[in-house]
Order: sequence, then structure tokens, then C-alpha cells
Amino acid sequence: MNTQLAIWAGKTAGTVSRMIGNGGSTISGVVARKLDGKFLRHLRSNAKEIIYITGTNGKTTTVNLLAHLLETSGKTVLTNREGSNMVTGISATIVRNAPFIGFMMNDVAVIEVDEASLPKAILECQPDYLIVTNFFRDQLDRYGELDLLIEKMKDSLKSVDVKLILNADDPFVNRFSDLQTKNIYVGLDENAGRFQSYTMGESKYCPICQKEFTYTTVHFGHLGHYQCTCGFTRPQTTLSAEKIYQGEKGIRLTMDGKDYPTTLKGMYNAYNALLAICACQEMGMNTKEIREGLMSYHKTDGRMQEFFIGEDTWKLNLVKNPAGGNVTLSEYLQTDENKQLIFCLNDNLADGEDISWIWDIDMELANREEVETFIASGKRAHDAALRMKYAGFPEEKIIILPDMKEAVLYAKRKGYPTYIMATYTCLTSMVTILSQEAGKRNKRDGFIGTFTIPFLSGHPKSLWRQGKYHMPKKTIRMEGNLPSNRRNQKP
Ligand SMILES: [Zn+2]
Repeated sequence: MNTQLAIWAGKTAGTVSRMIGNGGSTISGVVARKLDGKFLRHLRSNAKEIIYITGTNGKTTTVNLLAHLLETSGKTVLTNREGSNMVTGISATIVRNAPFIGFMMNDVAVIEVDEASLPKAILECQPDYLIVTNFFRDQLDRYGELDLLIEKMKDSLKSVDVKLILNADDPFVNRFSDLQTKNIYVGLDENAGRFQSYTMGESKYCPICQKEFTYTTVHFGHLGHYQCTCGFTRPQTTLSAEKIYQGEKGIRLTMDGKDYPTTLKGMYNAYNALLAICACQEMGMNTKEIREGLMSYHKTDGRMQEFFIGEDTWKLNLVKNPAGGNVTLSEYLQTDENKQLIFCLNDNLADGEDISWIWDIDMELANREEVETFIASGKRAHDAALRMKYAGFPEEKIIILPDMKEAVLYAKRKGYPTYIMATYTCLTSMVTILSQEAGKRNKRDGFIGTFTIPFLSGHPKSLWRQGKYHMPKKTIRMEGNLPSNRRNQKP
């Protein structure tokens, strides 16, 4: 009964949160867990097989690709595709998936798990498989010592019967190898492909005896073919890519002499593809099914994602810093067709609570005749509108609609190609809303095309913190003496 109450309360909280424009991505999980402290254990009632995916990089891509591959083979999949990867986020996924009474059984759950959350997730629900992508030392500030984190993860797995799918080329991941005897390893053969060279940092030292590794091949960072005099050596792989090269649509892998074309861009995605393919083989998928799935995979994570709504093409991109905003705007303004812009701005923790960085986006770029409307949306819609007003954009063309669904419906009614910038916590809701709207017209082909442009990596507010913040000259002239708390003003 408590469980059913937890689901209903979670669903209600999620609905209310979405209604007031908060997205509601994890709130339903928080509420459900208040009523049912180990809510994650119900994952077992949701899927016959459970796969967890953890590691520093590539989790989301591996999860999305694997879920897609399994779905194309006809399996039903429960997944936290949008990357809410802590226990509350995963609980929210369960709540969302639950029908009015009880749970919905799927064939497989493909769940991204944050590294620091893994022990808790394992404690509440043991998976059948754990995929570990890699470990890089770039999260020291979040988690403390990487070695400590790995030990904690290993401790949580000690008395658990789980099949590990590990990246053989990463010595850090290889530290999991003494946990089980039936581990599966994937990796890239020597000379499999040409990667950009990286500085290695301290990771080239053996985690067992701290001596320096001897590498016969380095693929990427500290990933490669390593060995140590103490005997800690790259394990034999079960599945390995003999060759990787850039194909027309994405990278292609050669395994057992067979060609596997993918739609993934970037050589580093070879590892994510290998891990996903390996899990599919474990689930009984054949080569033909896997290859078809790899070719039909399209990114749906809001990075320059395209939607076809009505007669128009809409584009959505994540924006989290001024540099990213400028790249996005100039990409959006390449054509001189009539268009409208939507800026969805939230100030939750994940977005950065200080939104002053929007004053460093050159919104002046968008002050052009062909921009029919600028729609400000999200919790800080008024701030986005104010920024646009200060860019000199005609006030009568600025619309403030904090509710993102309303913003989309308004733009849809006007019927122009629409370009959307969204901060992190707006993104998932926006993808959902746009997918629904696109689905209404395009049910027959159901295709949501996507493409990616090279994108500046995110360092939210870094320019601001470095004191490189500046007001556009025009704005200073307009206002003269701007109060420092301008971001709380309304236009
Ligand atoms: Zn050693």
C-alpha cells in the first residue's frame, strides 16, 4: 500500500511541478522515496533484466544507444534516457513508467547510474549486468579521490552476483576484474584507429603497485594496451574492434571481420558502441539486428536536435554559457528566412543559479528583421526578455510565456521555423513537449531527425567568474547607471 501511495504521490508531485513550469524531472522520485525509503528496489517489478551503466564519460550515449538497439529488436525497455542518474532520478523514472495501479513489466531496464550513487543503487536493487565505461580524474572536486570512489563502488559489488561488462583498455576499470570470474571485456585492438593525442596525467601509474605502466598502444587518455611488472595487465577481450574509421555518417567498426557502420560521431564513441553491442549480444541479439539498430540510431538529447512540427523545422540546443549561446545563435541565424526564437531559462542548481551570464550572450545578433518573435520562457523568462529588450529588439515582438508548453503552442500557432535555446533543466521537458508536438503531425513516419555541430564544451559562468563580464556598450548608454541586481528586474 505504501508503495502504491508513493507512486501516486510521486506522480502528483511531478504533474504539479510540470504545471508550474519546473519540469518535474526528479521531484516525483524525491516524493516517492519519502514514502517508500528503498523505492529503487521496485526496479525488479519493472524489468526482467536490469543493466546499470556507470563511469566518468559516455554513460548517456551508451544508455541511449543500448536502449535503442534493444528496442529495435522488439524488446520493451525502461530507461532514464535523459540522464537523471542519481537514486532520486532513477526512482522518478520508475514513477513515470508506472500505470495507475502497480507496475509495468518491461523486458529490460537500461539505467544510467552516477558513480557516487552506484553503491546506494546496488544496495536497493541488484542489477544483472553492470557496464563500466571508463574513469577519468576530472571529477575530483565532486567526489574526492577517484581511488576512494572506485573502492567504494567495488565494496558495494562484493557480495553481489552481477555480470560485469568492462572496458579492458582502462586500467582503472580493470580494477573491478577481481570481483567476479566471469567478467566480459571489450577493447580496441592495437592500431585499431587514430585518436587525437592527449596528455596522460597520473593515470599511467599502476593502481596496484604505483609503478609506471608500459604502454604498447595508447588510444585515448590513459586508455590503451598497458602492462605492469607486478602482473596487472590489460585483460584479454571477449569483444574487440579490429579497426575503427570515420565513415560518411559516423564511425565504422570492424569486428570479427564484419563491418558495423554507426551514426555516432567521434572516435571516442567506439568504446560506447562496443559496450552497447556487447550487452546486446549478451541479450541474445544477432549481428543483423545490431547493425540495423546502429544505423537507425539518432541522437535525441537536445543537442542541435531537429523536430518537424507542422510545416516547419524546429531546432533545439542546450545552452549553458555565453560562448555556447553565441555559437548557437550564429548557427540559428545563418539563414535569412523568417523565423522565431525561444529562450528557455531556468535557474535551478544544474543550470547555475546565477543567470547573469546571459548578459554575455550577444543577443544583439538576433536583432534582425527576419526574427518575427522572441519568446522568453522558463522560470526566469522575464530576465531573458529583459536581455532581449536591451539588445534593442522591438518590445512588441517580445512575448513572455514562462510555461514552456504554452511557449511552444504559441510559436506553433504563428507557424515559422523556430529555434530554441534551453538551459540544462529546461532541456528534458522541451524534448518531451517538442516530441509530442512533432508526433501529432508525423505519426506515420515517426522520424525525428537529428544532427550535431561541434560544440564548445561547457564551463558555466566561467567568463563571468574570471571578471571578463561586460555590458554591451549600447546597453550602458541606454541605461546609464545600471543597478547591480538588474537580473531581478522585470521589463
Ligand atoms: Zn603494478
